[in-house]
Amino acid sequence: MFDALSRWSRRRTLSRAAIPDALWREAVAQLPFLALYGDDDLARLREKVVLFLDAKAIVGARGHMVTPLQRVIVAIQACVLVLELDLAFYDGFENVIVYPGEFVPEWEWEDEAGVVHRNEAPLAGEAMPGGPVVLSWPDVEAGADWESSGMNLVIHEFAHKIDMRDGEANGCPPLPAGMSPEIWQRALNAAYDDFCARVDAGEHTAIDPYAAESPAEFFAVLSEVFFAEPLLLRREYPRVYGQWVAFYRQDPAARAAGLARE
Ligand SMILES: [Zn+2]
Repeated sequence: MFDALSRWSRRRTLSRAAIPDALWREAVAQLPFLALYGDDDLARLREKVVLFLDAKAIVGARGHMVTPLQRVIVAIQACVLVLELDLAFYDGFENVIVYPGEFVPEWEWEDEAGVVHRNEAPLAGEAMPGGPVVLSWPDVEAGADWESSGMNLVIHEFAHKIDMRDGEANGCPPLPAGMSPEIWQRALNAAYDDFCARVDAGEHTAIDPYAAESPAEFFAVLSEVFFAEPLLLRREYPRVYGQWVAFYRQDPAARAAGLARE
């Protein structure tokens, strides 16, 4: 009964909140990395985006007005991560807040000595456990084109959200049955140590050196690479790539390799 009811409510949402074709096409055109996705994938992505937009509010702040196109652009990138997962991965928060530029977060934290700190450096994006995802629109725009920017802010912040499903972000999201946390951790640690050593040695890395910041940032940055330039991640860190394939239930490098052969 419950299943029938949820299927019915899903169908109702899909028709009630459908995205007009022209708007969908315009949004897809602004995200060149979606070239990896076939028509079937894109159709399923579109459904997920409709359900996502029905569940979350994407709201402007500090004078930023979110246009319908911006809503869809943000939602598509958020949904790429959960294309093969349940949208419930994003339960526990309701809002995505979009600022007109970088912002200084208002939260404070206490260190082990009891000293209270305040972050003074402006951020392009932020995700907090149980809180909204916050994005700077110019940085969303810049990150939409991976080829020119080598970063994707929306995928980055939503990867943090997935990582935070079991508390603080630490590079290891709760894994499904059948995946071993030990194997995940071993693959992640080996790659992270290697990457940090390369960055420390001053090597120019194809992956954003910001990934060396912490295991949580490593997971978020490598998730960007996984979806936007999967062949790079598979080449650099194949064991991590394999774990990401099992976790996200997608193999974007196989899609990319298929396209390269065509
Ligand atoms: Zn981050």
